[in-house]
Amino acid sequence: MKNNVLIATALNEHARIYLFNSKEMVEEARKLHDLWPTSCAALGRTLAVTALMGLMQKDDNEVVTVTINGGGPIGTILCVANSAGEVKGFCGDPKIYMTYDGMHKLAVGKAVGTNGYLKVTKNLKLKQNYTSQVDLQSGEIGDDFAYYFSVSEQVPTIVSVGVLVDTDSTVRSSGAMIIELLPGHSEEDIVYLENLHLKPISSVFAENDDLHAYLKELFPDAEILEEKNVKYHCDCSRERFMRNLLTLPKKDLEEIAEDDHIDIKCEFCDKTYRFDKEDIKKVMSYASYKG
Ligand SMILES: [Zn+2]
Repeated sequence: MKNNVLIATALNEHARIYLFNSKEMVEEARKLHDLWPTSCAALGRTLAVTALMGLMQKDDNEVVTVTINGGGPIGTILCVANSAGEVKGFCGDPKIYMTYDGMHKLAVGKAVGTNGYLKVTKNLKLKQNYTSQVDLQSGEIGDDFAYYFSVSEQVPTIVSVGVLVDTDSTVRSSGAMIIELLPGHSEEDIVYLENLHLKPISSVFAENDDLHAYLKELFPDAEILEEKNVKYHCDCSRERFMRNLLTLPKKDLEEIAEDDHIDIKCEFCDKTYRFDKEDIKKVMSYASYKG
């Protein structure tokens, strides 16, 4: 399969660049959740940046969870990614279609809201979990992540992320780029980045989605460090939901058994698992064994 992420260094190794053609991943999310355009853009942007943060993790099995809630009509956006390039996520209301007045531009900031937070949790194997939270700046996602990287991780960062939705609601183009300034960078490097005048990345990829070409256009001295592949992937299973049932109080399990069965839907992939009377009895016997 063709890789859709480039990780590169440029500006005399003073900058690290993560460039992601996220079209297929976001289209997969759109189909799974039946996303309307503004929900698609908001969730798609968050998924793409979370996926790149997953790739930034040094050890395998480290998982990054991003939660965004700005008090807007879309509700909570939650995305999870790992270092293997797997990402999944959902938003409270998948059926939001709002544009800025008189324009075709999807009103992501309005849908997300600005009265809230962006929270990042890293589940680090063998180490303590790390959680950090910043106030939302614009709710447009890219600015909010840039603010998070600069404040919480103390890395001056540019985040460019966008999703272009077609008239038939499918994803026409989608991309994300993170540019980190590394220690030792100069004033010259900052001026160079300021003068890039980045065009919306989804428009760039709508015309030409060749990652190598775009990287060279922005940074003629760029050197590729790695190429990776990111995909939408949900790792849910019947066993996992069965284990979740174990955490319910006995009273609730008894009620479910009386109702004959329970359907539990995975929020990340919309797959439904049915547990019948016999399953619940099994869970209850485990639960009583557990005390
Ligand atoms: Zn699932």
